[in-house]
Formats: sequence, C-alpha cells, structure tokens
Amino acid sequence: MECVFCKIVKGELPSRKVYESENVVAFHDIQPQAPVHIVIIPKKHIPTMNDVGAEDDAVVAEIFAAARQIAAEQGIDASGYRLINNCNADGGQVVYHLHIHLLGGRKLGALVA
Ligand code: 5GP
Repeated sequence: MECVFCKIVKGELPSRKVYESENVVAFHDIQPQAPVHIVIIPKKHIPTMNDVGAEDDAVVAEIFAAARQIAAEQGIDASGYRLINNCNADGGQVVYHLHIHLLGGRKLGALVA
C-alpha cells in the first residue's frame, strides 16, 4: 500500500495545506494535539530520520525554514511552539515518511519519557 503522505503530495488524498514548494509541503494534522498542529514533510519519500542523507541537506534546511514561516503565519512565533520528529517504533512513528510536527497555540506540557 502506498504511503499516505506520498498520496497527499500527489493530491490523491485531500489535506489542508499551509505551505508548498518544489520540495516541501506542510498541512494540518488530521488529529490535532494542539490548537496549531501542522505536519511538515519533504515531497521525496524518506522513511525515517535515520534515512536522511547528506544529499537531503537542502530539504532539511527548508523544512526548518518552513516551520519558522508557518509559526509566524499562525501567530505563534512569539508565544512559542514545539517541533517534534518521531523515529521508528519506540519513538512513536506511525507514518513512515519523514515529518516534523509543529505544535503550538497553547502552553505545552513537559516532554515525557
Ligand atoms: P507520527 O506518529 O508518525 O509522528 O505521526 C503521524 C501523524 O500523521 C499523526 O499525527 C496523524 O494524525 C497524522 N496523519 C496520519 N494520516 C493522516 C492523513 O491522512 N492526513 C493528515 N492530515 N494527517 C495524517
């Protein structure tokens, strides 16, 4: 079965996009855990953080630039936000297409082990 985020990239699944460029797309999470919960992904299918290579430097940099831009557009840059990557089973990864969660809009709790 094809990757759900690849389907979003191709427009085969609907999503509420907030950012799109040649190599990166960002959209609202379908099950938001905070008032602002956006997922930022490379269009290229990279399964996990472990699979990021030196050739992906530019797209990784763009993901962080997109996070800064989206946080400002969502009005949470000054109040604060959290970026999260879940890697593999113990990290809680469910979708095996690299993504960064951008969470904010409320005071977030401490990270738990
Ligand atoms: P993970 O646990 O892999 O870091 O997080 C995957 C995230 O993708 C979850 O927060 C989940 O709600 C979100 N998600 C899964 N399927 C879809 C979908 O079809 N559309 C959107 N917008 N988000 C999804």
